[in-house]
Amino acid sequence: MPDAFPTLPEFPAGEVWLTGAGPGDPRFLTVLAVHALAAADDIVHDALVDARVLKLARPGAELIFAGKRGGRPSPHQRDINEVLLERARAGRRVLRLKGGDPFVFGRGWDEAAALTAAGIRFRIIPGVTSGLAATALAGIPATMRDTNHAVVLAAGHRAEDGRSTADWEALAKLGQPIILYMPMSQLAEMTAALEQGGLAADTPAAVIQSATTADERVLESRLGTLAKDAVASGIGSPAIVVIGAVAGLRRQLLASLVGWR
Ligand code: SAH
Repeated sequence: MPDAFPTLPEFPAGEVWLTGAGPGDPRFLTVLAVHALAAADDIVHDALVDARVLKLARPGAELIFAGKRGGRPSPHQRDINEVLLERARAGRRVLRLKGGDPFVFGRGWDEAAALTAAGIRFRIIPGVTSGLAATALAGIPATMRDTNHAVVLAAGHRAEDGRSTADWEALAKLGQPIILYMPMSQLAEMTAALEQGGLAADTPAAVIQSATTADERVLESRLGTLAKDAVASGIGSPAIVVIGAVAGLRRQLLASLVGWR
Protein backbone atom coordinates (compact mmCIF):
# COMPACT_ATOMS: atom_id res chain seq x y z
CA MET A 1 0.00 0.00 0.00
CA PRO A 2 1.24 3.57 -0.67
CA ASP A 3 2.43 5.40 2.46
CA ALA A 4 -0.47 7.84 2.26
CA PHE A 5 -2.98 4.98 2.46
CA PRO A 6 -5.23 5.13 5.52
CA THR A 7 -4.58 2.62 8.31
CA LEU A 8 -6.65 -0.54 7.98
CA PRO A 9 -8.65 -1.65 11.02
CA GLU A 10 -7.55 -4.56 13.14
CA PHE A 11 -9.84 -7.62 12.88
CA PRO A 12 -10.53 -8.40 16.55
CA ALA A 13 -11.23 -11.96 17.71
CA GLY A 14 -14.96 -12.54 18.20
CA GLU A 15 -16.06 -9.98 15.59
CA VAL A 16 -18.00 -10.66 12.40
CA TRP A 17 -17.32 -8.68 9.23
CA LEU A 18 -20.27 -8.72 6.82
CA THR A 19 -18.48 -8.17 3.56
CA GLY A 20 -19.27 -7.87 -0.13
CA ALA A 21 -17.06 -9.89 -2.47
CA GLY A 22 -18.03 -7.98 -5.63
CA PRO A 23 -19.10 -9.54 -8.93
CA GLY A 24 -16.41 -12.23 -9.22
CA ASP A 25 -12.96 -11.22 -10.43
CA PRO A 26 -10.88 -10.45 -7.30
CA ARG A 27 -9.67 -7.18 -8.79
CA PHE A 28 -13.11 -5.77 -8.01
CA LEU A 29 -12.75 -6.49 -4.29
CA THR A 30 -12.45 -3.51 -1.96
CA VAL A 31 -9.18 -3.01 -0.11
CA LEU A 32 -11.05 -3.75 3.13
CA ALA A 33 -12.32 -7.06 1.75
CA VAL A 34 -8.78 -8.12 0.79
CA HIS A 35 -7.58 -7.08 4.24
CA ALA A 36 -10.37 -9.11 5.87
CA LEU A 37 -9.56 -12.18 3.75
CA ALA A 38 -5.95 -12.00 4.90
CA ALA A 39 -6.94 -11.81 8.58
CA ALA A 40 -10.06 -13.95 9.08
CA ASP A 41 -10.05 -17.31 10.90
CA ASP A 42 -13.40 -18.43 9.45
CA ILE A 43 -14.85 -17.45 6.10
CA VAL A 44 -18.56 -18.16 5.75
CA HIS A 45 -19.33 -17.72 2.06
CA ASP A 46 -22.13 -17.99 -0.47
CA ALA A 47 -22.17 -19.93 -3.74
CA LEU A 48 -21.68 -16.72 -5.72
CA VAL A 49 -18.36 -15.89 -4.08
CA ASP A 50 -15.79 -16.59 -6.78
CA ALA A 51 -13.18 -19.31 -6.18
CA ARG A 52 -10.47 -16.81 -7.14
CA VAL A 53 -11.58 -14.62 -4.23
CA LEU A 54 -11.44 -17.50 -1.75
CA LYS A 55 -7.86 -18.18 -2.82
CA LEU A 56 -6.94 -14.91 -1.12
CA ALA A 57 -7.88 -16.34 2.29
CA ARG A 58 -5.18 -16.56 4.93
CA PRO A 59 -3.53 -20.00 4.78
CA GLY A 60 -5.18 -22.04 7.52
CA ALA A 61 -8.45 -20.12 7.46
CA GLU A 62 -11.51 -22.36 7.60
CA LEU A 63 -13.89 -22.02 4.63
CA ILE A 64 -17.52 -22.67 5.49
CA PHE A 65 -20.00 -22.90 2.64
CA ALA A 66 -23.43 -21.40 3.35
CA GLY A 67 -25.39 -21.22 0.14
CA LYS A 68 -27.37 -22.98 -2.50
CA ARG A 69 -25.56 -25.69 -4.44
CA GLY A 70 -26.57 -28.15 -7.13
CA GLY A 71 -30.27 -27.34 -6.92
CA ARG A 72 -30.47 -28.27 -3.25
CA PRO A 73 -32.40 -25.84 -1.08
CA SER A 74 -30.42 -23.11 0.61
CA PRO A 75 -29.71 -23.48 4.29
CA HIS A 76 -32.19 -21.59 6.43
CA GLN A 77 -31.16 -18.07 7.30
CA ARG A 78 -31.40 -18.87 10.99
CA ASP A 79 -28.90 -21.75 10.58
CA ILE A 80 -26.46 -19.38 8.89
CA ASN A 81 -27.01 -16.84 11.66
CA GLU A 82 -26.32 -19.60 14.18
CA VAL A 83 -22.98 -20.45 12.53
CA LEU A 84 -21.95 -16.78 12.71
CA LEU A 85 -22.93 -16.55 16.39
CA GLU A 86 -21.22 -19.80 17.36
CA ARG A 87 -17.99 -18.93 15.61
CA ALA A 88 -17.90 -15.40 17.00
CA ARG A 89 -18.61 -16.68 20.54
CA ALA A 90 -15.73 -19.12 20.12
CA GLY A 91 -13.48 -16.10 19.63
CA ARG A 92 -12.92 -16.54 15.92
CA ARG A 93 -12.48 -13.68 13.46
CA VAL A 94 -15.48 -14.38 11.25
CA LEU A 95 -15.63 -13.08 7.70
CA ARG A 96 -19.14 -13.39 6.30
CA LEU A 97 -18.51 -13.07 2.58
CA LYS A 98 -21.35 -12.52 0.11
CA GLY A 99 -21.41 -11.98 -3.63
CA GLY A 100 -21.70 -8.36 -4.73
CA ASP A 101 -22.86 -6.16 -1.87
CA PRO A 102 -24.14 -7.73 1.34
CA PHE A 103 -27.09 -5.32 1.61
CA VAL A 104 -28.34 -5.68 -1.98
CA PHE A 105 -30.54 -8.79 -2.23
CA GLY A 106 -28.08 -10.45 0.12
CA ARG A 107 -29.89 -10.86 3.48
CA GLY A 108 -27.03 -8.96 5.07
CA TRP A 109 -29.31 -6.89 7.25
CA ASP A 110 -30.93 -10.03 8.70
CA GLU A 111 -27.52 -11.26 9.80
CA ALA A 112 -26.60 -7.86 11.20
CA ALA A 113 -29.82 -7.88 13.23
CA ALA A 114 -29.13 -11.39 14.56
CA LEU A 115 -25.62 -10.34 15.60
CA THR A 116 -26.98 -7.22 17.26
CA ALA A 117 -29.58 -9.26 19.17
CA ALA A 118 -26.80 -11.54 20.40
CA GLY A 119 -24.58 -8.63 21.42
CA ILE A 120 -21.86 -9.55 18.93
CA ARG A 121 -19.89 -6.73 17.36
CA PHE A 122 -19.78 -6.58 13.62
CA ARG A 123 -18.62 -4.38 10.76
CA ILE A 124 -20.25 -3.90 7.36
CA ILE A 125 -17.99 -3.73 4.31
CA PRO A 126 -19.93 -2.86 1.17
CA GLY A 127 -19.05 -4.53 -2.11
CA VAL A 128 -19.47 -3.71 -5.78
CA THR A 129 -22.96 -4.95 -6.52
CA SER A 130 -23.30 -7.15 -9.60
CA GLY A 131 -26.19 -5.14 -11.03
CA LEU A 132 -24.04 -2.05 -11.36
CA ALA A 133 -20.77 -3.83 -12.18
CA ALA A 134 -22.20 -6.10 -14.88
CA THR A 135 -23.96 -3.23 -16.61
CA ALA A 136 -21.06 -0.77 -16.38
CA LEU A 137 -18.56 -3.33 -17.68
CA ALA A 138 -20.86 -4.03 -20.62
CA GLY A 139 -20.89 -0.31 -21.47
CA ILE A 140 -24.38 0.34 -20.06
CA PRO A 141 -24.66 3.35 -17.74
CA ALA A 142 -27.10 2.96 -14.83
CA THR A 143 -28.03 6.61 -15.17
CA MET A 144 -27.59 8.90 -18.13
CA ARG A 145 -28.53 12.54 -18.15
CA ASP A 146 -30.50 12.37 -21.38
CA THR A 147 -32.49 9.24 -20.64
CA ASN A 148 -33.11 8.74 -16.92
CA HIS A 149 -32.81 10.42 -13.54
CA ALA A 150 -33.42 7.27 -11.52
CA VAL A 151 -32.83 3.54 -11.78
CA VAL A 152 -34.70 0.62 -10.26
CA LEU A 153 -32.91 -2.38 -8.76
CA ALA A 154 -35.42 -5.22 -8.57
CA ALA A 155 -35.35 -8.92 -7.73
CA GLY A 156 -36.85 -11.21 -10.35
CA HIS A 157 -37.71 -13.65 -7.62
CA ARG A 158 -37.16 -14.20 -3.93
CA ALA A 159 -34.43 -16.71 -3.23
CA GLU A 160 -36.54 -18.38 -0.52
CA ASP A 161 -39.70 -19.30 -2.40
CA GLY A 162 -38.93 -18.51 -6.04
CA ARG A 163 -41.92 -16.17 -6.29
CA SER A 164 -41.85 -12.59 -7.45
CA THR A 165 -43.14 -9.88 -5.16
CA ALA A 166 -42.64 -6.84 -7.38
CA ASP A 167 -45.48 -4.93 -8.98
CA TRP A 168 -44.09 -4.99 -12.54
CA GLU A 169 -46.84 -2.87 -14.04
CA ALA A 170 -46.20 -0.11 -11.48
CA LEU A 171 -42.44 -0.31 -12.13
CA ALA A 172 -43.08 -0.04 -15.89
CA LYS A 173 -45.03 3.18 -15.31
CA LEU A 174 -42.02 4.83 -13.67
CA GLY A 175 -40.40 4.92 -17.09
CA GLN A 176 -36.96 4.40 -15.51
CA PRO A 177 -34.49 1.63 -16.38
CA ILE A 178 -34.87 -1.57 -14.41
CA ILE A 179 -31.89 -3.67 -13.37
CA LEU A 180 -33.06 -7.15 -12.47
CA TYR A 181 -31.29 -9.58 -10.15
CA MET A 182 -32.22 -13.30 -10.24
CA PRO A 183 -34.22 -12.71 -13.41
CA MET A 184 -33.92 -15.89 -15.44
CA SER A 185 -36.62 -18.17 -14.04
CA GLN A 186 -39.47 -15.73 -14.64
CA LEU A 187 -38.26 -13.67 -17.57
CA ALA A 188 -41.33 -14.34 -19.76
CA GLU A 189 -43.81 -13.36 -17.02
CA MET A 190 -41.86 -10.26 -16.01
CA THR A 191 -41.36 -8.91 -19.49
CA ALA A 192 -45.04 -9.51 -20.31
CA ALA A 193 -46.08 -7.65 -17.16
CA LEU A 194 -43.76 -4.74 -17.98
CA GLU A 195 -45.35 -4.50 -21.43
CA GLN A 196 -48.78 -4.64 -19.80
CA GLY A 197 -47.66 -1.74 -17.66
CA GLY A 198 -46.95 0.33 -20.74
CA LEU A 199 -43.28 -0.23 -21.58
CA ALA A 200 -42.87 -0.38 -25.36
CA ALA A 201 -41.98 -3.76 -26.84
CA ASP A 202 -38.99 -2.19 -28.59
CA THR A 203 -37.46 -0.89 -25.33
CA PRO A 204 -33.77 -1.90 -25.41
CA ALA A 205 -32.80 -4.74 -23.07
CA ALA A 206 -29.66 -6.71 -22.29
CA VAL A 207 -28.69 -9.82 -20.36
CA ILE A 208 -25.25 -10.07 -18.80
CA GLN A 209 -24.33 -13.53 -17.56
CA SER A 210 -21.46 -14.26 -15.14
CA ALA A 211 -19.89 -10.82 -15.36
CA THR A 212 -16.12 -10.78 -14.69
CA THR A 213 -15.77 -14.55 -15.03
CA ALA A 214 -14.61 -16.79 -17.88
CA ASP A 215 -18.30 -17.58 -18.59
CA GLU A 216 -19.27 -13.96 -19.19
CA ARG A 217 -21.77 -13.40 -21.99
CA VAL A 218 -23.80 -10.41 -23.08
CA LEU A 219 -27.04 -10.62 -25.05
CA GLU A 220 -28.68 -7.53 -26.54
CA SER A 221 -32.37 -7.64 -27.21
CA ARG A 222 -35.66 -5.73 -26.83
CA LEU A 223 -38.32 -6.09 -24.18
CA GLY A 224 -40.78 -7.84 -26.51
CA THR A 225 -38.35 -10.54 -27.62
CA LEU A 226 -36.07 -10.76 -24.58
CA ALA A 227 -37.47 -13.96 -23.06
CA LYS A 228 -37.45 -15.79 -26.40
CA ASP A 229 -33.99 -14.51 -27.36
CA ALA A 230 -32.59 -15.54 -23.97
CA VAL A 231 -33.86 -19.11 -24.38
CA ALA A 232 -32.63 -19.29 -27.99
CA SER A 233 -29.16 -18.06 -27.02
CA GLY A 234 -28.84 -20.44 -24.07
CA ILE A 235 -27.77 -17.59 -21.78
CA GLY A 236 -28.28 -18.54 -18.13
CA SER A 237 -27.77 -17.76 -14.44
CA PRO A 238 -26.26 -15.97 -12.71
CA ALA A 239 -27.30 -13.04 -14.82
CA ILE A 240 -28.37 -9.42 -14.65
CA VAL A 241 -31.06 -8.12 -16.97
CA VAL A 242 -31.33 -4.43 -17.77
CA ILE A 243 -34.38 -2.99 -19.46
CA GLY A 244 -34.47 0.63 -20.62
CA ALA A 245 -32.98 3.10 -23.08
CA VAL A 246 -29.58 2.84 -21.36
CA ALA A 247 -29.30 -0.77 -22.54
CA GLY A 248 -29.14 0.51 -26.12
CA LEU A 249 -26.20 2.80 -25.47
CA ARG A 250 -23.42 0.20 -25.28
CA ARG A 251 -23.34 -0.09 -29.06
CA GLN A 252 -21.85 3.38 -29.27
CA LEU A 253 -18.88 2.35 -27.12
CA LEU A 254 -17.97 -1.06 -28.43
CA ALA A 255 -15.34 0.13 -30.91
CA SER A 256 -13.09 1.38 -28.09
CA LEU A 257 -14.30 -0.38 -24.93
CA VAL A 258 -11.55 -2.59 -23.48
CA GLY A 259 -12.93 -5.50 -21.42
CA TRP A 260 -12.28 -6.11 -17.74
CA ARG A 261 -9.63 -8.80 -18.40
N1 SAH B 1 -25.70 -9.39 -3.19
C1 SAH B 1 -25.54 -9.68 -4.61
C2 SAH B 1 -26.82 -10.21 -5.23
C3 SAH B 1 -27.26 -11.55 -4.72
S1 SAH B 1 -28.68 -12.15 -5.54
C4 SAH B 1 -25.03 -8.44 -5.33
O1 SAH B 1 -25.01 -7.35 -4.74
O2 SAH B 1 -24.60 -8.55 -6.46
C5 SAH B 1 -27.96 -13.22 -6.75
C6 SAH B 1 -28.04 -12.59 -8.13
O3 SAH B 1 -26.99 -11.66 -8.32
C7 SAH B 1 -27.89 -13.56 -9.28
O4 SAH B 1 -29.07 -14.27 -9.54
C8 SAH B 1 -27.60 -12.59 -10.40
O5 SAH B 1 -28.77 -11.92 -10.81
C9 SAH B 1 -26.70 -11.58 -9.70
N2 SAH B 1 -25.27 -11.84 -9.90
C10 SAH B 1 -24.35 -12.08 -8.96
N3 SAH B 1 -23.11 -12.18 -9.50
C11 SAH B 1 -23.26 -11.96 -10.83
C12 SAH B 1 -22.35 -11.90 -11.94
N4 SAH B 1 -21.04 -12.08 -11.80
N5 SAH B 1 -22.87 -11.65 -13.17
C13 SAH B 1 -24.18 -11.45 -13.35
N6 SAH B 1 -25.09 -11.50 -12.34
C14 SAH B 1 -24.63 -11.74 -11.10
